[in-house]
Amino acid sequence: MSQMKSYSFQGKRAVIRVDFNVPLHKETLEVQDDKRIKAALPTINWVLNHGGSVVLLSHFGRPKNGPEDRFSLRHVLVRLQELLGVSVAFSLTLEEGFLKSKELNAGDIMLMENVRFFKGETENNSTLSAEFAKLGDCFINDAFGSAHRAHSSTTGIASFFPNDRMMGFLMEEELNNAQRVLSNPSSPFTAIIGGAKVSDKMLIIENLVSIASDIIIGGGMAYTFAQAMGGQIGNSLVEEDRLDNVKTILSQANQKGVRLHLPVDSVIADSFSADASTQITSSHHIPKGWMGLDIGPNSIDDFKKVILSSKTVLWNGPMGVFEWEPFSRGTRDIALAVAEATSLGAYSLIGGGDSASAIAQFALVDKVSYVSTGGGALLELFEGKELPGIKALD
Ligand code: AMP
Repeated sequence: MSQMKSYSFQGKRAVIRVDFNVPLHKETLEVQDDKRIKAALPTINWVLNHGGSVVLLSHFGRPKNGPEDRFSLRHVLVRLQELLGVSVAFSLTLEEGFLKSKELNAGDIMLMENVRFFKGETENNSTLSAEFAKLGDCFINDAFGSAHRAHSSTTGIASFFPNDRMMGFLMEEELNNAQRVLSNPSSPFTAIIGGAKVSDKMLIIENLVSIASDIIIGGGMAYTFAQAMGGQIGNSLVEEDRLDNVKTILSQANQKGVRLHLPVDSVIADSFSADASTQITSSHHIPKGWMGLDIGPNSIDDFKKVILSSKTVLWNGPMGVFEWEPFSRGTRDIALAVAEATSLGAYSLIGGGDSASAIAQFALVDKVSYVSTGGGALLELFEGKELPGIKALD
């Protein structure tokens, strides 16, 4: 693998795979959160400032059957040009892309339309990879958020540049931050895992049992744990087919001396809605017809104590239905505790997806050590998996 800082981009066209999968305003279709675009700028600007030109590839949403306007990267192009302060060429088809890419001069930049509009992208079709490769002279993968996908524009393309492929600065930064937690984290290391489904987080929890000193479980998944321990959980979320897995995790944590912290109380609701009636009960005594939608005040106190005495904190997944104000307190108070621990010297890594949205919602982005741009990719790293997008660069 080449290194960006020692590679000569003079007179070369760099194909950069970025992750511009950003949310748009529902009505205006303007970019709502440009974090991922901003995060790609150091790599793009490095090439442009070192005598090269740039061809950008990205996916955008999940189009099913070819082009669809709401998934067009033209919506992102506007913000990209504003941030770069230069005009960016845009190509809808590969043919247009080949022609325009040949005309790029040093300092020029072109964005290709959504790679998922091209047949074969998600199947890692090698013909499509070869076509993408024809757009440039070297390949940079800076799309950490897509590194867990083996697609034509993330992995297949890399094989066409055996001596001219490398990681971008964002990819490097993401991996360095993950490594800081994965290998030799300062102890005590607390992992906070929340979100809706225990099945999505099973592998990461199993892996964390070997590296964390404390694991805090919140969100909907906590109720599968409560049921496995014999609690009454009313109509809370539960995955019956995971009860045995959860029991195994409980006993493994016990054997390895890892402290597993579960919510002792919950904010419960009589329906899954923002204006439901609510009350606070023990997480093991939830009446029929009621469901746990947030952790309760005693759980917040317990979790805060653990977080504030940690030296390393990893957070992935909300503590409750934080999108609705009545059930957002658990997630907000845990976010505040992570920020406070950071101010006391702990290193804190926030997984992408909903935890990143929560940190942004509570205006705490600058108060934690690092907010990852990758949800699924970060999860898979912590599950102990090798990411295909990174392996393809070796
Ligand atoms: P995930 O994508 O698995 O990280 O889950 C995030 C989603 O879990 C968010 O949209 C939350 O609203 C939802 N969630 C968190 N806690 C609960 C809960 N107790 N019951 C139902 N959904 C929840």
